[in-house]
Amino acid sequence: MDQAELRKKLETRLNQLAVKVDDIDHTLMEASPADFEEQATEAEGDEVLEGLSQAGHDEIDAIRAALKRLEDGTYGVCVSCGEDIAPKRLEVLPHAALCISCA
Ligand SMILES: [Zn+2]
Repeated sequence: MDQAELRKKLETRLNQLAVKVDDIDHTLMEASPADFEEQATEAEGDEVLEGLSQAGHDEIDAIRAALKRLEDGTYGVCVSCGEDIAPKRLEVLPHAALCISCA
């Protein structure tokens, strides 16, 4: 995959995530339970949503870091050991910062 294509792929994913996370954060802020029973259910739902939101933010950070590495010319190099990350791994996880042995 060439760099322009890769960048586009990462940016598309970033935009999709931003919309999704925004939506989740919005739902979290709006939640106002009507009674106690609902409050309990809602609290459980909130935990799931918070987990999703956190995961989304983490992935956004990881993608931004990958875009920066692309910019710096260090993309595809493991940030821990400095070895090349296997292309197969990057295909599955384009924002991977670690090689398989370090992950
Ligand atoms: Zn490594």
